[in-house]
Amino acid sequence: ILAKKIMLNIVLFGPPGAGKGTQSEKVLKKYNLVHLSTGDLFRLHLNNETALGLEAKKYMNKGDLVPDEIVIGMVEDKINKSSNVIGFVFDGFPRTINQAIALDNMLEKKNIPIKQMIALKVDEKELIKRIQNRAKTSGREDDKSIDKINNRIQVYNQETKPVADYYKKHDKYSEVDGIGEIDEIFIKLCSKIDDLIWNE
Ligand code: ADP
Repeated sequence: ILAKKIMLNIVLFGPPGAGKGTQSEKVLKKYNLVHLSTGDLFRLHLNNETALGLEAKKYMNKGDLVPDEIVIGMVEDKINKSSNVIGFVFDGFPRTINQAIALDNMLEKKNIPIKQMIALKVDEKELIKRIQNRAKTSGREDDKSIDKINNRIQVYNQETKPVADYYKKHDKYSEVDGIGEIDEIFIKLCSKIDDLIWNE
């Protein structure tokens, strides 16, 4: 048997409130992957009141994107610090075309390209409902007001949605219906990931 080392880098994509965080957790456990959530990393910096956290806070609390240089540097750092991984689940990154290009360059150097972007499809009405519900427990400043939520969705539509086209162009795009039971969505997601593994 020729055992081939598989690398499984996935981008889990979707608007705020699509369920990327929830589904990522389940995917990581099942496939033994490393989570790279830029939102979580920023929140960690925020809690620890690091210089990076204080800088990012200005943007995050308004629901705006943190500037590309800051995000890209943080991601590169995290990738370089993770050795011996089977692959990453990128969650909340890349969020701009510039970030997508930077990620490709970083991974190309290591010869571990992105296998696929999987997008969770959820309509706007449902997104707003979910985020407002999460606001009750998340303690997140950007979940608190409808204006901030709307701003995040608008930023997503303007700056982040085009990132899907970038992966489509490279034949690395697929989507999953993000409405329904968490486990039901997870099963659909797993079937996409299993296809990627079998087609290795
Ligand atoms: P959401 O639930 O809105 O998808 P995240 O937890 O992924 O939120 O991110 C929260 C905030 O962190 C974003 O609104 C943004 O300010 C900042 N952020 C996270 N990832 C990125 C990124 N890749 N580029 C720029 N800003 C980011």
